[in-house]
Amino acid sequence: MGLPPDKAKTHCPHGHELSGDNLEPWHLKTRNARACWTCHKQRAYKSRLLQVAAIGRAAKALGLTQAAYIDRYGWSRHVALQYA
Ligand SMILES: [Zn+2]
Repeated sequence: MGLPPDKAKTHCPHGHELSGDNLEPWHLKTRNARACWTCHKQRAYKSRLLQVAAIGRAAKALGLTQAAYIDRYGWSRHVALQYA
């Protein structure tokens, strides 16, 4: 792949330090690559919010409670977007 080596990077593009507790553990373990844990968590949180919002809209569109919707269709945002 055409990705540049990231050995020299000390900070992520958002200025978080790439060391110690701020290294995303999965990347480090499986690819020996350093990724920003703070940014990773922020992306995951944002994606989770979008997912919950999509499921809420889909449940409403189908006249179900959110719990009943998840029972029937699961947590997939892609499925929810078909109904939302
Ligand atoms: Zn970052």
